[in-house]
Amino acid sequence: MLDIVRTVATLRDQVDEWRRAGQRIALVPTMGALHAGHLSLVHQGRETCDRVVATIFVNPAQFGPSEDFATYPRGEADDVTKLEAAGVDLLFAPDVGEMYPENFATNVTVSGITDCLCGLSRPGFFDGVATVVSKLLLQALPDVAVFGDKDYQQLLVIRRVVRDLNIPVDIIGAPTVREQDGLALSSRNAYLGTAERQQAAALFRSLGTAAENIETGRGEPEAETAAALQRLTESGFTKIDYFELRDAETLAPAVNLQRPSRLFAAAWLGATRLIDNVSVAARAIPN
Ligand code: AMP
Repeated sequence: MLDIVRTVATLRDQVDEWRRAGQRIALVPTMGALHAGHLSLVHQGRETCDRVVATIFVNPAQFGPSEDFATYPRGEADDVTKLEAAGVDLLFAPDVGEMYPENFATNVTVSGITDCLCGLSRPGFFDGVATVVSKLLLQALPDVAVFGDKDYQQLLVIRRVVRDLNIPVDIIGAPTVREQDGLALSSRNAYLGTAERQQAAALFRSLGTAAENIETGRGEPEAETAAALQRLTESGFTKIDYFELRDAETLAPAVNLQRPSRLFAAAWLGATRLIDNVSVAARAIPN
């Protein structure tokens, strides 16, 4: 049976009990509206841990004033059914007051790797993410916490917070779960109309084509990026926040293609912003 707790105190009591029994605990933070991508993180946690704690918290601090906090899909009853079926032991679903009590005044800011990509198109977003994830990790003190490659820059930000603040947890990155046509599963896909849903697959297709051409040397990053932008526009994307090749570790612009890099994209279909990214293997060093 899946227990639902709403307070940090009850979360800690339960996790303490498991820890005293010698059990390992995995944490899977989410904003709910759960899909198979989220559930893959649960399965990943299960592989190395005895207990899995999922969290659902639509974090107001990571939404900008003109973003979709109010309309973000919410449906706890459905989420609970899915988490239960996936074998989650405990759901922590606090309200905003529990996470941000009156006079809350602390912010976790990560510099450097947040100066590009979503850090530019969503000011304040990574402060919100770093702060809430730091809180969730310190509240639950899990052995591992699982996050998706789908939000790759976010994953790097969280790894940096954990390292810099010595939070004793292993961060695990999990591969992106996709629809049959390649579209990355996302709670925001629910916003897409029928025509937009078909157009949406062009995001992953463009990333895949550009990545393959760059990897194999058939194309150079600048030309591939330009071609991808054109394909996205032709496919119906109305605005492209970025389509960029960056170093997979530092997120600096990828100049040395003999290091692993990643192609990142964020683009809009009408009112819906989609993001995705794919790895680009290092080119072989010519001999
Ligand atoms: P969210 O509920 O969107 O905040 O996402 C919660 C976690 O699920 C984050 O670690 C995401 O990276 C991860 N996630 C979201 N979509 C996917 C996906 N399609 N495949 C794997 N993980 C995902």
